[in-house]
Amino acid sequence: MTLRLHNSLTRRTEDFVPADPSRVTMYVCGPTVYNYVHIGNARPPVVFGLLARLLKRLYPNVVYARNITDVDDKINAAAKEAGVPIEGITGQYTAAYRDDMARLGADVPDVIPHATAHIAEIVSMCERLIDGGHAYAAEGHVLFDVASFPDYGRLSGRSTEDMIAGARVEVAPYKKNPADFVLWKPSTPDLPGWDSPWGRGRPGWHIECSAMAEKHLGETIDIHAGGNDLMFPHHENEIAQSTCAHGGRTFARYWLHNGMLTFDGKKMSKSLGNVVVLHELLEEHPGELLRFLLLKAHYRQPLDWSETALQQARATLDGWYTTLRDLADAPAGADGASGAADVEAALFDDLNTPAAFAVLAKLADAARAAKTPAERSAAKSALLAGGELLGLLQQDPEAWFKQAVGVDVDVEEVERLVAQRAAAKKARDFAESDRLRDLLLALGVVVEDTPQGPRWKFVKADERAA
Ligand SMILES: [Zn+2]
Repeated sequence: MTLRLHNSLTRRTEDFVPADPSRVTMYVCGPTVYNYVHIGNARPPVVFGLLARLLKRLYPNVVYARNITDVDDKINAAAKEAGVPIEGITGQYTAAYRDDMARLGADVPDVIPHATAHIAEIVSMCERLIDGGHAYAAEGHVLFDVASFPDYGRLSGRSTEDMIAGARVEVAPYKKNPADFVLWKPSTPDLPGWDSPWGRGRPGWHIECSAMAEKHLGETIDIHAGGNDLMFPHHENEIAQSTCAHGGRTFARYWLHNGMLTFDGKKMSKSLGNVVVLHELLEEHPGELLRFLLLKAHYRQPLDWSETALQQARATLDGWYTTLRDLADAPAGADGASGAADVEAALFDDLNTPAAFAVLAKLADAARAAKTPAERSAAKSALLAGGELLGLLQQDPEAWFKQAVGVDVDVEEVERLVAQRAAAKKARDFAESDRLRDLLLALGVVVEDTPQGPRWKFVKADERAA
């Protein structure tokens, strides 16, 4: 099966052919760790983590790198505001990001380079760019000379005039050209800084990705991915730096960009006050539910986040997990290949997750309709295998319904009440069993009696009322 990917650079969907099938490389731009990320920032690690998972099914050695930007003016500002050292901010939010990504089931990168651990590589790249006539030092800064790279703007398809207007570039006296961008800048004593040939300073943002990709993946990488908000200027600048530092050799062979998230149809922004913080969402919803919604739309399309979308996603996942719970007695074997193959075929077509979800829905329908023990086992295996590729449906169905996310109830206490109710029913004390049923309902727990005994699940307050 051929993996096809939409390459932003050529604006076409192409067969993916790695430069060296014995070592396939991918770089995804990671977070700047100064705060909790918003839900939109979770789309690239989930989507491109899924791509890494597919690549690993095709190639024996895939190196997936996703950086941590731990030196940045936003970090400096956050540290100043909180009255703590820079490392206090970066340490806290790097750990929070790692934990939140784990709860989303985002595939863990093979390399997680930190910018501050690559200052020597960054300085070396600046020096090579200066030596090659692509950068210049001025007043403690090092600037990339955009005029030295005729391909500048090719990825984003912008003219130099558009780029200057769009980026609201800083016109500074030390710049030869307003579009020239900072590779290195001077630090005052109160700011983080490192000694360099241009004095004590710190790197600009763009150069760190070029330096870390070079160090861990090589001069030419197979895939570079990120949000389409990074296409300009960040990715355009990465291409300029790396290509010029490497004697004109291609930096990234395939560029992938995901669409942005909107909230109830509006752009998420601080000024509109509708920024949805991932860490807070995870207090209210299971990580798997958020993962489902992040993958539901095709990655290149915009994704509209809303309460309604969350409820619909919850209903779908509840339905699929109900099917799996009804099949609890059917052994799942290793014969789920057909289910996995159809999901894989959809994903190999430029990560067509909507098509993959449609396959899962069909597999769930088939599993619900299965009659004989052999049919039930096969259908369950297929649904589980298809879900596994997408990082879904791998929990014990009982655990899915009993996870106490967004509810303030002790699961053991619920289990005790459910058992008491069952005992009351058995003793034909219906007044007591009804009382316990109502008590459980007040806790947000619905009990259902089945031939195998009672089973229960948490429901949201609005469903309880319905
Ligand atoms: Zn980057």
